[in-house]
Amino acid sequence: MEISTTPSSAAVSDERLAEILASPGFGLHFTDHMLTVEWTPDAGWHAGRIEPYGPLTLDPATAVLHYAQEIFEGMKAYRHADGSIWSFRPEENAARMVRSSRRLALPELDVADYIQAVDALVTADQRWVPDPAGEKSLYLRPFMFASEAFLGVRPAQHVTFMVIASPAGAYFKGGIKPVTLWLTEGYTRAGRGGMGAAKTGGNYASSLVAQQQASAQGCDQVVFLDAQEGRYVEELGGMNLYFVHDDGTIVTPETGTILEGITRSSIIELAGKLGHQVEERRFSIDEWRDGVRSGRIVEIFACGTAAVVTPVGALKWDGGEVPAPASTDLTMRVRQALVDIQYGRAEDTFGWMHRIV
Ligand SMILES: *Cc1c(COP(=O)(O)O)cnc(C)c1O
Repeated sequence: MEISTTPSSAAVSDERLAEILASPGFGLHFTDHMLTVEWTPDAGWHAGRIEPYGPLTLDPATAVLHYAQEIFEGMKAYRHADGSIWSFRPEENAARMVRSSRRLALPELDVADYIQAVDALVTADQRWVPDPAGEKSLYLRPFMFASEAFLGVRPAQHVTFMVIASPAGAYFKGGIKPVTLWLTEGYTRAGRGGMGAAKTGGNYASSLVAQQQASAQGCDQVVFLDAQEGRYVEELGGMNLYFVHDDGTIVTPETGTILEGITRSSIIELAGKLGHQVEERRFSIDEWRDGVRSGRIVEIFACGTAAVVTPVGALKWDGGEVPAPASTDLTMRVRQALVDIQYGRAEDTFGWMHRIV
């Protein structure tokens, strides 16, 4: 794929950049450039370019604003101690974006083109990749949307793929502490045949009101149950869940209506190597409540690119609560093992890392 470059003439000064990277927060600051590729049925993917970061001009009839034909990815670039820059399993993000595009009737972007695009932007803005201290990284947001100006309901005939990047600090300021969860019984995130397995903005839009309820109840995050029976645990809406049992077995909800997290599948492999049996199956909310109360469940954790791995504490619902499980020992070991691979402090025996610079 051809990608032209127009360097920014208003790049952030070294002094200001040092200030931003000292305390980047999350999703607040964006790099000097952005990458764009366009698609039409006749020309396919074309007009690949890196340009100065800035606002888009959109026709008010742009299809994505009305019908939400949109997908995205989330990944990170990590700086290693020797200064080199790496991403984690980018081919998995690219393959997932292809699966999401099929569900949302968007055109497919080749895995190789996706990786080339991400690598090109990170290379252009490499000074924005923070030093590894304090688990900092450059968060990467590839996304694709219906950019045709047309109000009819059909797949757009003009589609735009972009990559933007934003430095990210440690997800947990002031140390890792368990997240408390609110069990929503009124809202679901995905039904059979729905978009639950696609990484699309619509799933997030539908989760916001449930997240609002969780916050009003003093909880950090919301847990969704399956739409059909309201019995089986799905995920947090942005993180996948694991239940560690007293015999070392780890259970994680099976895929179908949940998002197939890349952290999720990596942890399944890692835990296997650490000697744990991992079961992917339906896991009921009663199994959660009874398991914590009886002590059969000894740890619960959630995972996703942003937080990596976070211990799960108490679960609350309308009329009840189960406390946090007793331990966070395996949770912290799994987390450390993954982070050490990502930052190049442990040998990459799985072949997960991809060098960009
Ligand atoms: C992105 C996402 C996750 C986590 O996936 P990772 O690939 O591990 O970052 C989990 N659930 C939902 C709904 C997501 O969108």
